[in-house]
Amino acid sequence: MHQATLTDEALAIKGGAPVRETLLPYGRQSIDEDDIQCVVGVLRSDWLTTGPNVAEFEEAFAAYVGAKYAVSFASGTAALHGAAFASGLGPGDEAITSPMTFAATANCVLYQGATPVFADVSTDTLNLDPQKTAARITPRTRALLPVDYAGHPAEINAFLEIADRHGLIVIEDACHALGAHYLQRRTGSVAHMTVFSFHPVKHLTTGEGGMVTTDRSDFAETLRRFRNHGISSDARQRQSQGQWHYEMVLLGFNYRLTDIACALGLSQLRKLEVNLLRRGEIASRYASAFRDLAAITLPVTREDMTHAWHLYPIQLNLEKLSATRAEVFRALRAENIGVNVHYIPVHLHPYYRDRFGDRAGEFPVAENAHERLISLPMFHGMSDQDVEDVIKAVRKVTSHFLA
Ligand SMILES: *Cc1c(COP(=O)(O)O)cnc(C)c1O
Repeated sequence: MHQATLTDEALAIKGGAPVRETLLPYGRQSIDEDDIQCVVGVLRSDWLTTGPNVAEFEEAFAAYVGAKYAVSFASGTAALHGAAFASGLGPGDEAITSPMTFAATANCVLYQGATPVFADVSTDTLNLDPQKTAARITPRTRALLPVDYAGHPAEINAFLEIADRHGLIVIEDACHALGAHYLQRRTGSVAHMTVFSFHPVKHLTTGEGGMVTTDRSDFAETLRRFRNHGISSDARQRQSQGQWHYEMVLLGFNYRLTDIACALGLSQLRKLEVNLLRRGEIASRYASAFRDLAAITLPVTREDMTHAWHLYPIQLNLEKLSATRAEVFRALRAENIGVNVHYIPVHLHPYYRDRFGDRAGEFPVAENAHERLISLPMFHGMSDQDVEDVIKAVRKVTSHFLA
């Protein structure tokens, strides 16, 4: 093992000086004065929940992604639940999804009493593999749920083709990919339904919040009812029509996004393009700074796609290192770099093991990647100094552990 001789190069985990004094998180929101003024304006208005900002945010969002309809939800998870409901998933049905995702993607299938079925991911993008997905189709399959891992669009055309052949619905979990492009089309305009999240670590935040986009009016209508107790009109429509009568036509939830949140969303949407450019810049800086490091494999972007860079996941080439992922992780944290791991494959979580049995080993690409993954800090509010600190810490730690 290479031993650093200068004290200032000693790893922080071994008592050396950390690369920076304060912890840099892996992701965080940016809120400016405009955002604050927009929210304050709603607090002084007549509508705190379903009001004018909800419709305005939905219209602006639909226009941005290039979809006919956008329906807002209280969270990305609620939006996934809505899309699973609208697709008709129910008891006895199956939906095929990626193990390399946040548990909510698969959980929404369980909410509907249906069964999530996993298929392995592609080695380069860690996105659900269309061939392996096709191999898992049964007469019970009703939906496909690809995920745009880290912000790289999934192969939606391949999934749409499979769906056409078998009469399935494609729900794209694009919680990582707002603003990405798939063959010149913006994510959110391609799949039958596309789901977004506005959690603070995502590209645009409303605190908590989510959206489903679609070109199908029947899906949009079902989604609007589902988020409002299954009622066929909302309170504002009734007030404007001088009506008190309403009908509950399906079993829905209260999954509405507030007017306060939508005002913040509208204000954040205006800055999205600038923020996406900044994320792209940070990714390019990382890529050129790490090009010569044998110890790590960098994320790739396929031709004809643009990446939204929600995450910057590197994979450790463990055979070239004298340390485990856990040791590299702890060493980077000690340098005050807030690294993270995305994701523990969903089928390995205790709940899924207890309910569906121990499936470890069944999805070798996802499981092997999981052992090597580390997400570096990636958010549009990072300063140039923050980016340089990450680069310095990764070089310092990996060179120390070079086998
Ligand atoms: C963030 C996220 C969700 C859930 O969104 P919430 O708004 O936190 O409920 C779902 N899927 C993926 C892939 C996510 O990253």
